[in-house]
Amino acid sequence: MEGDFERVLISGDAIAARLDELAHEIQRDYPRGPITVVVLMKGALVFAADLMRRLPRLLELECLNVASYHGATTSSGTVEFLDARMPDVRGRRVLVLDDILDTGRTLGAVVGALRGEGAEEVRCGVMLAKERVREHDIRAEYVGFRIEDEFVVGYGLDYRGRYRNLPYIATLRREVVDA
Ligand code: 5GP
Ligand code: MG
Repeated sequence: MEGDFERVLISGDAIAARLDELAHEIQRDYPRGPITVVVLMKGALVFAADLMRRLPRLLELECLNVASYHGATTSSGTVEFLDARMPDVRGRRVLVLDDILDTGRTLGAVVGALRGEGAEEVRCGVMLAKERVREHDIRAEYVGFRIEDEFVVGYGLDYRGRYRNLPYIATLRREVVDA
């Protein structure tokens, strides 16, 4: 597996240090009361698990299964909600966590849906944000790292279901993507 990567973009240590800062910002912005964290599966699983454990506060966890990639390295253009029901977020302060903000379609659709469910407030946190023009006008209040517009894997992010377990973020060798 190690031979599949072109370069390590963000090390595990750098991720851990940045998560400490993000958790601090979140604790500062939500000084009291419970928050509902909505994790977009599966990509944000690792990020959310590590971030949540840095938040010593009342917190409820919900997971939402959405799909937008379907195995390619570019977004498919449609966001599918795969769960039978949306989480109950009526009157709640919601923090949506996703792995990466790319075109903005995923978070745009999710934020819209959660507002439609009656959430009192919806904010977004992402591990990564690509420096690009977004197709959907959405911004994340909490961003781990801003990266160039290239395809990355690791720390929850996959390519065809693989590499989510990497403890760092890396780019793939062209041969692996073309194979
Ligand atoms: P958006 O809807 O903002 O275009 O894309 C968000 C979703 O696309 C992410 O949750 C992630 O699943 C996928 N995605 C976008 N860029 C990348 C990338 O560089 N690598 C991987 N593995 N997935 C990505
Ligand atoms: Mg994803």
